[in-house]
Amino acid sequence: MKHYLIIALIICISACKNDTQTTILDNTPDNESVISQLKITPIEHATMVLEYNGKTIYVDPTGGKEAFEGFPKADYVLITDIHSDHMHLKTLEGLSLNNAQIIAPEAVYELLPKDFRKHTNAMINGSKVDYDVFSVEAIPMYNLRDEALKYHPKGRGNGYVLTFGKERVYISGDTEDISEMRELKNIDKAFICMNLPYTMTVENAAKAVLDFKPKQVYPYHYRGTEGYSDIEKFKSIINENSKAIEVTELNWYPNISKK
Ligand code: ZN
Repeated sequence: MKHYLIIALIICISACKNDTQTTILDNTPDNESVISQLKITPIEHATMVLEYNGKTIYVDPTGGKEAFEGFPKADYVLITDIHSDHMHLKTLEGLSLNNAQIIAPEAVYELLPKDFRKHTNAMINGSKVDYDVFSVEAIPMYNLRDEALKYHPKGRGNGYVLTFGKERVYISGDTEDISEMRELKNIDKAFICMNLPYTMTVENAAKAVLDFKPKQVYPYHYRGTEGYSDIEKFKSIINENSKAIEVTELNWYPNISKK
């Protein structure tokens, strides 16, 4: 009897201990900060501001310095491609970027004035770099449809996976539903473009998202030559096919009433 009691006691101690550990793991400030501390503010179309752990990242800054009034100065600037909705020299020149680290594809680096190049890291597809509060991985972005190949040839621009603590954020840049996107793993938040003729249809965007299953998807970059893509349709395809993926709509086009 005494024997059983001791065994029961050991089991209880080890079980309780495990429970405690699990609880501690789930509630560590570190873990919490990963979920709650990334602040995302859309500016317009593909332009946004990310704030994390005291650092500020401007993504594809456009719209002039006025668009960034009220935000902290950029510590980092992330640029995906050479087109003016991503690389906007006038905006870059208007912002105080002397102390900012710029991260861009080589094709963008080539177009930047010398002063900017000094603090620009030119990344090729597939490369990775660690900074103080996050790491950056350059992901290919390109067109697949014959008629669209001219817009984004493979190797020129970069999508990015940013890792903040344990949270992984994918910014697609201008791309179609390429295999490199479909094969992404453990993405918490994904910003996915969907506009014609430059990137892809909402159907193809949804199919790719259903393949790599981010926890949360933000449709962005959805103004095309024929107007705005049908984001409600994108949302309904995702919702019909997955309960696990949350579609989050942000106000990417503040100058129009809806959409
Ligand atoms: Zn674009």
